[in-house]
Amino acid sequence: MRRYDLHCHSTASDGTLAPAQVVALAKQNGVDVLALTDHDCVDGLAAARIAAQEQGIELVAGVEISCDWDGRTIHVVGLNIDPDNPGLQAGLAALQTMRRQRALDMGARLEKNGIAGALEWTTQQLQHLNVTRTHFARYLVAQGKAKDMQNAFDRYLGSGKPGYVKTRWVDFGQAVGWINGAGGVAVVAHPSRYDFSYTKCKIMLDDFKSSGGAGIEVVYGGCDRGRIDTHVRLCKALELAGSCGSDFHDLNIPWTRLGGLPPLPKAVTPIWADRF
Ligand code: AMP
Ligand code: MN
Ligand code: MN
Ligand code: MN
Repeated sequence: MRRYDLHCHSTASDGTLAPAQVVALAKQNGVDVLALTDHDCVDGLAAARIAAQEQGIELVAGVEISCDWDGRTIHVVGLNIDPDNPGLQAGLAALQTMRRQRALDMGARLEKNGIAGALEWTTQQLQHLNVTRTHFARYLVAQGKAKDMQNAFDRYLGSGKPGYVKTRWVDFGQAVGWINGAGGVAVVAHPSRYDFSYTKCKIMLDDFKSSGGAGIEVVYGGCDRGRIDTHVRLCKALELAGSCGSDFHDLNIPWTRLGGLPPLPKAVTPIWADRF
């Protein structure tokens, strides 16, 4: 059976490895089919494509789009997209503009809350990065303001904390429209990470499906057996396909090892069936 890992990040967003290094690691870890899915950006795909050809591994072009649903941020992964599609590119460009504005607002808020130099640091980062909260978290740890990444989110970056800036991303209709318009297929990322009840999650996924969404990540990095079972139930109830992706960012985070996932349960139709 081929091993799929359909969710990971590179330095094009908040991963620590360059796209070619991510591809090399996937190959080393026994992945047969890899999707690179950076946040709101497809900039890493060209380099990943070249590396995948050199290494003899199948690359699926992907992206992870920041969406809003009922006041919450929900991540939608697009798989098998054409990264050059103009509609998708225009949509991602709009999201990148929102990210830049949010980063500046966050830098200013952190500065006001005792992190001297935060705004200047942000301005510098924006010259060469698609800045995410992960970058802020690393900065806060490096500055000694948080003991680790989790602590940086707990103290500064999580919802309602001093460095948090609420952003209105895009709705399912827009994100799924761009993905489907670019020839891809849309899946809801890490469905158990939103702190929804089963019923609420089902309502959210029903809306997602009505917008043209096709699946959910049944298996993702760090998700336990109980969650996998719940995801299988949701797939069956809503006739959604199943995906699997580690959400790998960083070699220092052991529960999101690239390619280190249990198999997709047989009860679920794989998102890649008849596709890739
Ligand atoms: P953003 O899209 O800029 O809001 O950043 C979201 C990213 O922050 C996620 O994709 C994760 O990589 C990271 N993240 C969110 N919560 C945490 C957490 N508690 N600990 C570490 N990283 C986190
Ligand atoms: Mn991330
Ligand atoms: Mn995500
Ligand atoms: Mn991710």
